[in-house]
Amino acid sequence: MRIGVYPGTFDPITLGHLDIIKRGARLVDRLVIGVTTNPAKSPMFDLDERVAMVEQAISDIAGASVVTFDALLMDFAAEQGASVILRGLRAVADFEYEYQMAGMNQQLNDEIETVFLMADVSLQPIASRLVKEIARYGGPIDKFVTPEVATRVAAKVAGEGRR
Ligand code: ADP
Repeated sequence: MRIGVYPGTFDPITLGHLDIIKRGARLVDRLVIGVTTNPAKSPMFDLDERVAMVEQAISDIAGASVVTFDALLMDFAAEQGASVILRGLRAVADFEYEYQMAGMNQQLNDEIETVFLMADVSLQPIASRLVKEIARYGGPIDKFVTPEVATRVAAKVAGEGRR
């Protein structure tokens, strides 16, 4: 049985992430989406909210499940019994960071392979950071996230406005 881990912050999950998850799920028997705490990124959503959004978004994807982790990625992946780590690649901007991380992870555990996937061309520019920025300025985000996520982002932005 081939197990893959797709790690990320997912703050929030976008249609770009979801496309990578669908593509990844076809490559492995079981795909574990690992949501990191990542306090360094000061997430808009707490861990439970991010997990709930991922859970809802993947409900119809066979073999996909979601787990949180606050550890070294390679340790988490090994613990899950994964042989593959999936990452999405957008443009050149992602490359350097992903290249360096995959290289260091390879040094940490050479048994687990990092595999890069590209989202559908129409979904490639989507980034959680920009979704939040657009929403904070009152722009529409329904082309970038599921309706459930759009509702949650709107509620969060309204809450920020009241503070
Ligand atoms: P991280 O904080 O680990 O970068 P993210 O949630 O931002 O977590 O992203 C998780 C992974 O999904 C990363 O590999 C990122 O490059 C990828 N990704 C995000 N958005 C897209 C997209 N629109 N197309 C392809 N890959 C994407």
